[in-house]
Amino acid sequence: MPIPIHDPHSTSDGSLKRLPLLKAAVAFIATVCLCLCGLLYLQLEQSRRHDLAMAEVVSINLTRAMAQQAEDTFMEAELVLTSLAEWVQADGYEGAAAARLHSTFSRRVQALQQLSGLFMFDKHGQWVVTSFDDLPRGEGVADRDYFRFHQQNASLLVHIGPAIRSRENGEWIIPLSRRINDKQGNFQGVLMAGIKLAYFDQFFKSFNIDDDGTMFLALSDGTLLTRRPFEERQIGASLSRGEIFQKYLPNSLYGNAMITSVVDGVVRLYGYRQLEAYPLVVAAATSRDAILKGWYATAYQSSVIVALVVLGIGLFGWVFVHQVRDGQRIEADLRKAQEALEVIATHDSLTGLANRRLFERALEIEFGRGARQSSPLSLIMLDIDYFKSYNDTYGHVAGDHCLTEVAQVLKNCCQRKADLAVRYGGEEFAVLLPDTDIQGALTIAEQIRLRVMEQNIEHGGSPTGRLTVSLGCYAFVPRGADSIEAFIQRADAALYQAKKGGRNRVEVLSMEEAAAPLLRSDR
Ligand code: GH3
Ligand code: MG
Ligand code: MG
Repeated sequence: MPIPIHDPHSTSDGSLKRLPLLKAAVAFIATVCLCLCGLLYLQLEQSRRHDLAMAEVVSINLTRAMAQQAEDTFMEAELVLTSLAEWVQADGYEGAAAARLHSTFSRRVQALQQLSGLFMFDKHGQWVVTSFDDLPRGEGVADRDYFRFHQQNASLLVHIGPAIRSRENGEWIIPLSRRINDKQGNFQGVLMAGIKLAYFDQFFKSFNIDDDGTMFLALSDGTLLTRRPFEERQIGASLSRGEIFQKYLPNSLYGNAMITSVVDGVVRLYGYRQLEAYPLVVAAATSRDAILKGWYATAYQSSVIVALVVLGIGLFGWVFVHQVRDGQRIEADLRKAQEALEVIATHDSLTGLANRRLFERALEIEFGRGARQSSPLSLIMLDIDYFKSYNDTYGHVAGDHCLTEVAQVLKNCCQRKADLAVRYGGEEFAVLLPDTDIQGALTIAEQIRLRVMEQNIEHGGSPTGRLTVSLGCYAFVPRGADSIEAFIQRADAALYQAKKGGRNRVEVLSMEEAAAPLLRSDR
């Protein structure tokens, strides 16, 4: 039974009690890395939101500028139409009035850049006055939507129609038109100002937007008037099913929306605005990638730096963890070696039983315990009979083998954990039996004696013809003043009695003998 060495760093199960340094180091490194990544994420998310918020402000401003420009453009043209309508209604458009109107039309068109031409159509849709000098009389505009609109609507408000290609000069225009009544209020014709799409195109181009960006002007019903980039085949297309017209405009007259294009899959930030004065909508879009271009670069740089730092910390942690592990391994090896040394120092190499050193330590402990608990402590001393002669007959090697067999018997007879079998000297053994009275000791001693005999080890030098042992038992309840030496001497005295009484027997020291002064006699 190896006696545990007192070690303040040792736990009850023998493993080293230490701060969980390894776990703490791993947790610390993981926490630092996670914090770094978390901080990076927070910082990047914040700057991404900031960039998007700035883009929203820019987008709102851009659409406001576009709306203002569109409103001014149409307002100027409307003012021209209104004043001309009053002229026509007052002076008519025949004879001298026609010539005056023509020159006024021309001056207005020259004055306003957005105007492609000004036209006065009679009630059949034939032009009667235009801003052009010598315009051939064509097939008229009776089939045009805006003409039909005024024909059928008594309203004198201006009307903006879908973009058309001018039949006079082939230019793309947005018709801004107004109904002219005669003095009786009957339909007399239509005044129309053609507003150049090119004018808007030029305006749109003056803004600095990315290649994936787009700008457009549309009627409130979603009919596209013009857009950047300009594509002729798109003019007149309906945007009414798009998200802006379906989802956003019904809720708010202006705003921003992040929309994924169903056409090219590009995500764009759209700014949109419904004009207050006209049934027109303007919108401008910037691709999210363009908005976040700077952010992507920063995110890449920061991520690389953080990744390198995390890698560095990880490497350091790896080295550190290995160092700690190596240290622990060395410590465990040392501990094993120390335990092995402890076993060597406290056990007999031939029999594997405890040696005298361990026996003495155990005695000290058991004396203390017995005194504290008032429990009996027994000791059996054992000596092999005629062993000298055994050695002489069979040799020392056989003698050693014999010793191991007797030791094995002792081990087998020590059933309880606290029992300790000891090789006391050459062929002398001791068995310490804590918490055992003399009766128990006697029983075990007798058991040992019989088992040794049962081994049937041939011994020609013994009267029995086989190997036997003599045993002496002593038991008492230790008190503080009792000496260990006296305890051993009394068990030894009992053994002496067994030898004297003829060997191969168990003797117990009688109380009288125990009370007498103890002197070990030679046997
Ligand atoms: P007794 O019955 O009175 O005990 O007679 P004995 O011959 O056994 O006498 P004693 O106890 O004095 O003999 C001890 C002998 O034990 C002496 C020695 O030869 C032998 N011996 C002691 N230690 C060892 C050992 O480690 N190995 C071997 N083989 N023999 C040992
Ligand atoms: Mg002896
Ligand atoms: Mg002997």
